[in-house]
Amino acid sequence: MNDDDVEAVATVLRGDWLTTGPTVAAFERALEQLTGADRCVTVTSGTAALHVAYAAAGVGPGDEVVTTPMTFVATASSALALGATVRFVDVEEDTANIDPEAVAAAVTDRTTVIAGVDYAGHPIEIDAINEIASRAGALVVEDAAHSIGSTYRGRPVGSLADLTTFSFFPTKNLTTAEGGAVATLDPDLGARAHRFHNIGLVRDPDLLRHPDEGPWHQEVHEWGLNYRLPDVLAALGHSQLRRLSAFKARRAEVFARYQQGLAGVDGIRLPTRRAHVDPIWHLYPLRVLEGRRRTVFEAMRADGVGVQVNYLPVYWHPVFEDLGMRRGMCPNAEAFYAEELSLPMHVELTDDDIDRVIDSVTTALRG
Ligand SMILES: *Cc1c(COP(=O)(O)O)cnc(C)c1O
Repeated sequence: MNDDDVEAVATVLRGDWLTTGPTVAAFERALEQLTGADRCVTVTSGTAALHVAYAAAGVGPGDEVVTTPMTFVATASSALALGATVRFVDVEEDTANIDPEAVAAAVTDRTTVIAGVDYAGHPIEIDAINEIASRAGALVVEDAAHSIGSTYRGRPVGSLADLTTFSFFPTKNLTTAEGGAVATLDPDLGARAHRFHNIGLVRDPDLLRHPDEGPWHQEVHEWGLNYRLPDVLAALGHSQLRRLSAFKARRAEVFARYQQGLAGVDGIRLPTRRAHVDPIWHLYPLRVLEGRRRTVFEAMRADGVGVQVNYLPVYWHPVFEDLGMRRGMCPNAEAFYAEELSLPMHVELTDDDIDRVIDSVTTALRG
């Protein structure tokens, strides 16, 4: 947070529109500019964004959503909430992103959506996924909670998949406290997303079934929820968005300093980056080998370093176990989870902080 962020929020608080006002619209237009999407709809969280995206895609009972287990549970649970069947497929061994070959093997004529996650900020192999989806008659949802500002072959995240979702939770690359957005390339999907996040309300006189009811009249044709992001929070997001490229640059420096400082250290494996992507690094996912991840995690926490593990394979959550899903289903994801240790990654880390983290890792590995 800087003073501009605080002032932007205060201006809205002193103004006429707390919600449904011009600051929401301005933030959405700025997101469209950044992403190259036809339309962006802001919502109250990344989870809401996924729910809206799946609803806009028409996901319902009987439909299958093919997705990755190496993500936060919401990527899958928001599809369950619409009555869909979730099919987990394995990830690529190096990036931990959904594996296009595994997707191709899993799609059926009931697959409505293929949902990938740009793990750590590194975009999925979208060209391959889009091709599989178009052959299968499915839509692609890209969960870009980690990757606002990343590019794939020079194209920005948000302009790659049919629907892209963002999270603006404080741990992410830019924040509105709680918040998120859906970006889409298709005006129809955009209209559906907008309706679902606004209770399903229809006001356009041309679309009303009962247009003569009166000037107050509005209708619901398909149900929706209230997922509207208020102007108060859109102001924070819009202000933060102006610094996104500075955030990306600093995150790249943090990433590079870790790569350099940890190169050649035994017992670990460093994250990979493919040549055709330019990620905004949300995580620095180190891999700790030889079954020592937990020891290193505990030693670093005891040393005051806020390491984390991202993520428990989603089908290990009891809600999926109770649907009959068993461990062993996605070996690459499980092997990745067993080794993964996220080092601190944010824009306010100083070079000294980073060096202290590197020291802490190497000391923990020696211990
Ligand atoms: C954070 C996150 C979400 C959920 O976002 P919220 O804003 O916390 O609801 C979904 N998917 C991924 C990959 C995330 O990291």
